[in-house]
Amino acid sequence: MARATTARIHMDALRHNLARIRSAAPDSKVMAVVKADGYGHGLERVAQALAGADAFGVAAISDAQRLRAVGFSQGIVLLSGFDEAADLAQLRELSVVTVVHHPFQLAMLAEDSGSPISVWLKMDSGMHRLGFPPEQFPEAYRRLKAMPNVDDDIVCMSHFASSDEPGNPQTVSQLACFDAFLPADASVCSLANSAAVLAWPASHRQWLRAGGALYGLSVASGRTGSDFGLKPAMTLSTRLISTQQVRAGERVGYAGTYVCPEDMRIGVAAIGYGDGYPRNIRPGTPALLNGQRVPIIGRVSMDLMTVDLRSQPQAAVGDELILWGGGLPVEEIAEAAGTISYELTCSITRRVRFRED
Ligand SMILES: *Cc1c(COP(=O)(O)O)cnc(C)c1O
Repeated sequence: MARATTARIHMDALRHNLARIRSAAPDSKVMAVVKADGYGHGLERVAQALAGADAFGVAAISDAQRLRAVGFSQGIVLLSGFDEAADLAQLRELSVVTVVHHPFQLAMLAEDSGSPISVWLKMDSGMHRLGFPPEQFPEAYRRLKAMPNVDDDIVCMSHFASSDEPGNPQTVSQLACFDAFLPADASVCSLANSAAVLAWPASHRQWLRAGGALYGLSVASGRTGSDFGLKPAMTLSTRLISTQQVRAGERVGYAGTYVCPEDMRIGVAAIGYGDGYPRNIRPGTPALLNGQRVPIIGRVSMDLMTVDLRSQPQAAVGDELILWGGGLPVEEIAEAAGTISYELTCSITRRVRFRED
Protein backbone atom coordinates (compact mmCIF):
# COMPACT_ATOMS: atom_id res chain seq x y z
CA MET A 1 0.00 0.00 0.00
CA ALA A 2 1.22 3.51 -0.79
CA ARG A 3 2.33 5.59 2.14
CA ALA A 4 -0.73 7.47 3.35
CA THR A 5 0.98 10.76 4.07
CA THR A 6 -0.89 13.30 1.96
CA ALA A 7 -1.07 17.06 1.50
CA ARG A 8 -4.51 17.90 0.16
CA ILE A 9 -4.55 21.26 -1.60
CA HIS A 10 -7.93 22.96 -1.53
CA MET A 11 -8.30 24.72 -4.85
CA ASP A 12 -11.55 26.41 -3.75
CA ALA A 13 -9.82 27.83 -0.69
CA LEU A 14 -7.13 29.38 -2.90
CA ARG A 15 -9.82 30.99 -5.08
CA HIS A 16 -11.75 32.14 -2.00
CA ASN A 17 -8.63 33.74 -0.53
CA LEU A 18 -7.88 35.57 -3.78
CA ALA A 19 -11.42 36.97 -3.73
CA ARG A 20 -10.92 37.98 -0.08
CA ILE A 21 -7.75 39.89 -1.02
CA ARG A 22 -9.51 41.58 -3.93
CA SER A 23 -12.41 42.68 -1.73
CA ALA A 24 -9.97 44.23 0.76
CA ALA A 25 -8.48 46.43 -1.99
CA PRO A 26 -10.90 46.46 -4.94
CA ASP A 27 -9.07 49.17 -6.87
CA SER A 28 -5.68 47.47 -6.87
CA LYS A 29 -4.24 44.78 -9.09
CA VAL A 30 -3.15 41.59 -7.40
CA MET A 31 0.17 39.85 -7.85
CA ALA A 32 -0.18 36.30 -6.53
CA VAL A 33 3.18 35.47 -4.97
CA VAL A 34 3.90 31.81 -5.79
CA LYS A 35 7.58 31.63 -4.84
CA ALA A 36 9.03 28.60 -3.05
CA ASP A 37 6.80 26.23 -5.04
CA GLY A 38 3.68 28.16 -4.13
CA TYR A 39 4.62 28.34 -0.43
CA GLY A 40 5.00 24.54 -0.56
CA HIS A 41 1.56 23.90 -2.09
CA GLY A 42 2.88 23.14 -5.59
CA LEU A 43 3.59 25.89 -8.12
CA GLU A 44 1.57 24.73 -11.13
CA ARG A 45 -1.56 23.77 -9.21
CA VAL A 46 -1.51 26.97 -7.19
CA ALA A 47 -1.11 29.03 -10.35
CA GLN A 48 -4.04 27.17 -11.87
CA ALA A 49 -6.29 28.01 -8.91
CA LEU A 50 -5.03 31.60 -8.85
CA ALA A 51 -5.09 32.13 -12.61
CA GLY A 52 -7.46 35.06 -12.03
CA ALA A 53 -4.65 37.08 -10.44
CA ASP A 54 -3.21 39.94 -12.50
CA ALA A 55 0.35 38.61 -12.29
CA PHE A 56 2.49 36.02 -10.52
CA GLY A 57 5.51 36.74 -8.33
CA VAL A 58 8.43 34.29 -8.20
CA ALA A 59 11.90 34.30 -6.68
CA ALA A 60 13.67 32.16 -9.29
CA ILE A 61 13.71 32.29 -13.09
CA SER A 62 13.27 28.51 -13.05
CA ASP A 63 9.81 29.04 -11.53
CA ALA A 64 8.92 31.42 -14.36
CA GLN A 65 10.11 28.75 -16.78
CA ARG A 66 7.84 26.19 -15.15
CA LEU A 67 4.83 28.52 -15.39
CA ARG A 68 5.46 29.31 -19.05
CA ALA A 69 6.05 25.62 -19.83
CA VAL A 70 2.49 24.78 -18.78
CA GLY A 71 1.04 27.68 -20.69
CA PHE A 72 0.48 30.54 -18.23
CA SER A 73 0.66 33.81 -20.13
CA GLN A 74 0.09 36.21 -17.22
CA GLY A 75 2.74 38.70 -16.23
CA ILE A 76 5.45 37.23 -14.02
CA VAL A 77 7.67 39.37 -11.78
CA LEU A 78 11.06 38.08 -10.64
CA LEU A 79 11.01 39.46 -7.09
CA SER A 80 14.68 39.02 -6.26
CA GLY A 81 15.82 40.37 -9.60
CA PHE A 82 18.45 39.14 -12.06
CA ASP A 83 22.00 38.27 -11.02
CA GLU A 84 24.02 38.33 -14.23
CA ALA A 85 23.90 39.70 -17.74
CA ALA A 86 23.01 36.27 -19.17
CA ASP A 87 19.75 36.35 -17.19
CA LEU A 88 18.50 39.22 -19.34
CA ALA A 89 18.15 36.97 -22.39
CA GLN A 90 16.06 34.56 -20.33
CA LEU A 91 13.86 37.36 -19.02
CA ARG A 92 13.16 38.41 -22.60
CA GLU A 93 12.58 34.90 -23.83
CA LEU A 94 10.07 34.23 -21.05
CA SER A 95 8.59 37.79 -20.97
CA VAL A 96 9.40 38.11 -17.31
CA VAL A 97 9.43 41.45 -15.50
CA THR A 98 12.41 41.90 -13.20
CA VAL A 99 12.94 43.77 -9.98
CA VAL A 100 15.94 46.11 -10.04
CA HIS A 101 17.29 46.68 -6.54
CA HIS A 102 21.03 47.40 -6.83
CA PRO A 103 23.47 49.56 -8.83
CA PHE A 104 25.18 46.47 -10.31
CA GLN A 105 21.93 45.78 -12.17
CA LEU A 106 21.83 49.32 -13.55
CA ALA A 107 25.36 48.81 -14.84
CA MET A 108 24.40 45.53 -16.53
CA LEU A 109 21.35 47.13 -18.13
CA ALA A 110 23.48 50.04 -19.35
CA GLU A 111 25.78 47.56 -21.14
CA ASP A 112 22.86 45.65 -22.62
CA SER A 113 21.20 46.50 -25.94
CA GLY A 114 18.35 44.03 -26.40
CA SER A 115 14.64 44.67 -26.76
CA PRO A 116 12.97 46.59 -23.90
CA ILE A 117 12.34 44.66 -20.71
CA SER A 118 9.94 45.73 -17.96
CA VAL A 119 11.25 46.51 -14.51
CA TRP A 120 10.00 47.13 -11.00
CA LEU A 121 12.41 49.45 -9.20
CA LYS A 122 12.81 48.74 -5.51
CA MET A 123 13.46 51.24 -2.75
CA ASP A 124 14.86 50.18 0.61
CA SER A 125 12.46 52.20 2.77
CA GLY A 126 13.81 50.77 6.02
CA MET A 127 13.85 46.99 5.98
CA HIS A 128 17.48 46.92 4.82
CA ARG A 129 17.24 43.84 2.69
CA LEU A 130 16.88 44.59 -1.06
CA GLY A 131 16.52 48.01 -2.62
CA PHE A 132 18.16 51.33 -3.40
CA PRO A 133 18.68 53.70 -0.49
CA PRO A 134 15.88 56.30 -0.66
CA GLU A 135 18.18 59.18 -1.58
CA GLN A 136 19.58 57.18 -4.54
CA PHE A 137 16.16 56.07 -5.74
CA PRO A 138 15.15 59.07 -7.91
CA GLU A 139 18.46 58.94 -9.78
CA ALA A 140 18.11 55.19 -10.40
CA TYR A 141 14.58 55.84 -11.67
CA ARG A 142 15.80 58.57 -14.06
CA ARG A 143 18.59 56.37 -15.39
CA LEU A 144 16.20 53.49 -16.10
CA LYS A 145 13.72 55.85 -17.77
CA ALA A 146 16.47 56.98 -20.15
CA MET A 147 17.51 53.46 -21.19
CA PRO A 148 16.16 52.37 -24.60
CA ASN A 149 16.30 48.71 -23.51
CA VAL A 150 13.99 49.33 -20.50
CA ASP A 151 10.23 49.78 -20.83
CA ASP A 152 8.86 53.15 -19.81
CA ASP A 153 6.20 51.81 -17.44
CA ILE A 154 8.45 51.37 -14.39
CA VAL A 155 6.66 50.22 -11.23
CA CYS A 156 8.11 51.62 -8.00
CA MET A 157 8.06 49.23 -5.08
CA SER A 158 9.22 48.66 -1.53
CA HIS A 159 8.72 45.94 1.10
CA PHE A 160 7.62 46.18 4.74
CA ALA A 161 9.49 44.63 7.65
CA SER A 162 6.72 44.73 10.26
CA SER A 163 3.35 45.09 8.56
CA ASP A 164 2.13 42.00 10.44
CA GLU A 165 2.00 44.10 13.61
CA PRO A 166 -0.97 46.48 13.57
CA GLY A 167 0.09 49.97 14.55
CA ASN A 168 3.83 49.25 14.34
CA PRO A 169 5.53 52.63 13.76
CA GLN A 170 8.09 51.06 11.39
CA THR A 171 5.37 50.60 8.77
CA VAL A 172 4.27 54.23 9.17
CA SER A 173 7.83 55.43 8.72
CA GLN A 174 8.47 53.13 5.72
CA LEU A 175 5.35 54.51 4.04
CA ALA A 176 6.41 58.09 4.69
CA CYS A 177 9.92 57.38 3.40
CA PHE A 178 8.61 55.77 0.21
CA ASP A 179 6.31 58.69 -0.52
CA ALA A 180 8.99 61.28 0.24
CA PHE A 181 11.46 59.85 -2.27
CA LEU A 182 9.03 58.73 -4.97
CA PRO A 183 9.72 60.61 -8.23
CA ALA A 184 6.88 62.98 -9.15
CA ASP A 185 6.20 61.24 -12.47
CA ALA A 186 6.06 57.73 -10.95
CA SER A 187 2.41 56.74 -11.00
CA VAL A 188 2.41 52.97 -10.48
CA CYS A 189 3.51 51.66 -7.10
CA SER A 190 3.50 48.47 -5.04
CA LEU A 191 4.05 48.15 -1.31
CA ALA A 192 1.55 45.82 0.28
CA ASN A 193 2.27 42.20 1.20
CA SER A 194 -0.59 40.13 2.67
CA ALA A 195 -0.49 41.72 6.10
CA ALA A 196 -0.49 45.22 4.65
CA VAL A 197 -3.40 44.38 2.33
CA LEU A 198 -5.48 43.42 5.35
CA ALA A 199 -4.26 45.93 7.93
CA TRP A 200 -2.69 48.94 6.19
CA PRO A 201 -5.07 50.37 3.57
CA ALA A 202 -2.82 53.41 3.04
CA SER A 203 -0.31 51.03 1.46
CA HIS A 204 -2.61 49.52 -1.17
CA ARG A 205 -1.61 51.64 -4.20
CA GLN A 206 -1.81 50.15 -7.72
CA TRP A 207 -0.38 46.67 -7.13
CA LEU A 208 -0.74 44.32 -4.16
CA ARG A 209 1.76 41.50 -3.65
CA ALA A 210 -0.08 38.83 -1.72
CA GLY A 211 1.47 35.52 -0.71
CA GLY A 212 0.61 33.95 2.63
CA ALA A 213 -3.00 35.15 2.75
CA LEU A 214 -3.71 33.38 -0.55
CA TYR A 215 -2.78 30.11 1.13
CA GLY A 216 -4.98 30.95 4.12
CA LEU A 217 -1.99 31.59 6.36
CA SER A 218 -2.24 34.07 9.17
CA VAL A 219 -0.70 37.46 8.69
CA ALA A 220 -0.54 38.46 12.37
CA SER A 221 1.00 36.67 15.32
CA GLY A 222 -1.42 35.07 17.73
CA ARG A 223 -4.16 34.88 15.09
CA THR A 224 -5.13 32.30 12.51
CA GLY A 225 -5.98 32.76 8.85
CA SER A 226 -9.67 32.23 9.56
CA ASP A 227 -9.62 35.27 11.88
CA PHE A 228 -9.12 37.23 8.65
CA GLY A 229 -11.79 35.40 6.64
CA LEU A 230 -9.23 33.18 4.94
CA LYS A 231 -9.49 29.42 4.37
CA PRO A 232 -6.56 27.02 4.79
CA ALA A 233 -5.34 25.78 1.42
CA MET A 234 -3.51 22.71 2.76
CA THR A 235 -4.55 19.77 4.91
CA LEU A 236 -1.67 17.50 5.90
CA SER A 237 -2.77 14.03 6.92
CA THR A 238 -1.69 10.44 7.36
CA ARG A 239 -3.02 7.23 8.92
CA LEU A 240 -2.33 5.13 11.97
CA ILE A 241 -0.21 2.13 10.97
CA SER A 242 -0.01 0.54 14.43
CA THR A 243 -1.49 0.68 17.90
CA GLN A 244 0.13 -0.58 21.08
CA GLN A 245 -0.83 -1.20 24.67
CA VAL A 246 1.97 0.18 26.88
CA ARG A 247 2.39 -0.26 30.64
CA ALA A 248 2.58 2.53 33.19
CA GLY A 249 6.18 3.74 33.62
CA GLU A 250 7.32 2.57 30.16
CA ARG A 251 8.97 5.11 27.91
CA VAL A 252 7.91 5.91 24.33
CA GLY A 253 10.18 6.79 21.40
CA TYR A 254 13.79 7.99 21.02
CA ALA A 255 15.46 9.06 24.23
CA GLY A 256 12.40 7.93 26.15
CA THR A 257 11.17 11.47 26.62
CA TYR A 258 7.58 10.38 27.28
CA VAL A 259 6.79 8.22 30.30
CA CYS A 260 3.39 6.54 30.32
CA PRO A 261 1.49 7.80 33.39
CA GLU A 262 -0.74 4.70 33.38
CA ASP A 263 -1.36 1.60 31.30
CA MET A 264 -2.44 3.13 28.00
CA ARG A 265 -2.93 2.64 24.29
CA ILE A 266 -0.86 4.60 21.87
CA GLY A 267 -1.11 4.99 18.10
CA VAL A 268 1.75 5.11 15.61
CA ALA A 269 1.23 7.35 12.57
CA ALA A 270 3.11 7.36 9.26
CA ILE A 271 4.55 10.85 9.32
CA GLY A 272 7.72 12.41 10.68
CA TYR A 273 10.31 15.07 10.08
CA GLY A 274 11.26 13.26 6.84
CA ASP A 275 7.89 14.46 5.56
CA GLY A 276 8.43 17.98 6.81
CA TYR A 277 6.58 17.77 10.12
CA PRO A 278 8.69 19.75 12.63
CA ARG A 279 10.72 17.61 15.04
CA ASN A 280 10.99 20.26 17.74
CA ILE A 281 7.35 20.60 18.75
CA ARG A 282 6.35 21.33 22.31
CA PRO A 283 5.21 18.22 24.26
CA GLY A 284 1.48 17.65 23.92
CA THR A 285 1.10 19.36 20.56
CA PRO A 286 -2.21 18.17 19.10
CA ALA A 287 -3.18 16.27 15.98
CA LEU A 288 -6.75 15.46 14.88
CA LEU A 289 -7.69 11.79 15.02
CA ASN A 290 -11.13 11.07 13.62
CA GLY A 291 -11.86 14.75 14.05
CA GLN A 292 -10.85 14.88 17.75
CA ARG A 293 -7.69 16.31 19.23
CA VAL A 294 -5.10 13.86 20.54
CA PRO A 295 -1.68 14.81 21.94
CA ILE A 296 1.46 13.80 20.06
CA ILE A 297 3.72 12.03 22.59
CA GLY A 298 7.47 11.35 22.59
CA ARG A 299 9.92 12.48 19.93
CA VAL A 300 8.81 12.93 16.36
CA SER A 301 11.09 10.62 14.35
CA MET A 302 11.93 10.60 10.64
CA ASP A 303 9.03 8.48 9.41
CA LEU A 304 6.79 8.09 12.42
CA MET A 305 5.19 9.77 15.38
CA THR A 306 3.15 8.46 18.30
CA VAL A 307 -0.11 9.76 19.73
CA ASP A 308 -1.98 9.23 23.00
CA LEU A 309 -5.13 7.16 22.32
CA ARG A 310 -6.61 7.30 25.84
CA SER A 311 -9.41 9.60 24.67
CA GLN A 312 -10.23 7.28 21.74
CA PRO A 313 -10.53 3.65 22.80
CA GLN A 314 -12.14 2.81 19.46
CA ALA A 315 -9.20 4.14 17.41
CA ALA A 316 -7.75 1.56 15.01
CA VAL A 317 -5.06 1.02 12.41
CA GLY A 318 -6.06 2.88 9.26
CA ASP A 319 -7.71 5.81 11.03
CA GLU A 320 -6.93 9.23 9.59
CA LEU A 321 -4.73 11.64 11.52
CA ILE A 322 -4.70 15.30 10.44
CA LEU A 323 -1.55 17.21 11.35
CA TRP A 324 -2.82 20.60 10.22
CA GLY A 325 -5.51 22.07 8.02
CA GLY A 326 -9.25 22.37 8.47
CA GLY A 327 -10.06 22.07 12.20
CA LEU A 328 -6.44 22.40 13.31
CA PRO A 329 -4.83 25.67 12.23
CA VAL A 330 -1.26 25.37 10.95
CA GLU A 331 -0.54 28.51 12.99
CA GLU A 332 -1.10 26.51 16.18
CA ILE A 333 1.44 23.87 15.13
CA ALA A 334 3.88 26.57 14.01
CA GLU A 335 3.62 28.23 17.39
CA ALA A 336 4.27 24.88 19.10
CA ALA A 337 7.36 24.48 16.94
CA GLY A 338 8.68 27.99 17.54
CA THR A 339 8.27 29.06 13.93
CA ILE A 340 5.71 30.55 11.53
CA SER A 341 3.11 28.81 9.39
CA TYR A 342 4.93 29.83 6.19
CA GLU A 343 7.95 27.74 7.17
CA LEU A 344 5.84 24.65 7.83
CA THR A 345 4.00 24.64 4.49
CA CYS A 346 7.28 25.36 2.66
CA SER A 347 8.99 22.42 4.38
CA ILE A 348 6.80 19.54 3.13
CA THR A 349 9.15 17.08 1.44
CA ARG A 350 8.93 15.27 -1.88
CA ARG A 351 7.79 11.92 -0.56
CA VAL A 352 4.47 13.41 0.60
CA ARG A 353 1.71 12.77 -1.90
CA PHE A 354 -0.06 15.90 -3.13
CA ARG A 355 -3.67 15.79 -4.13
CA GLU A 356 -6.04 18.51 -5.26
CA ASP A 357 -9.52 18.71 -3.87
C1 LIG B 1 7.25 37.01 -0.42
C2 LIG B 1 7.02 38.41 -0.83
C3 LIG B 1 5.74 38.96 -0.78
C4 LIG B 1 4.54 38.23 -0.20
O1 LIG B 1 4.57 38.31 1.19
P1 LIG B 1 3.37 37.70 2.08
O2 LIG B 1 3.68 38.13 3.46
O3 LIG B 1 3.47 36.20 1.95
O4 LIG B 1 2.12 38.23 1.53
C5 LIG B 1 5.59 40.25 -1.26
N1 LIG B 1 6.63 40.95 -1.74
C6 LIG B 1 7.88 40.45 -1.79
C7 LIG B 1 8.99 41.28 -2.32
C8 LIG B 1 8.12 39.16 -1.33
O5 LIG B 1 9.35 38.67 -1.37
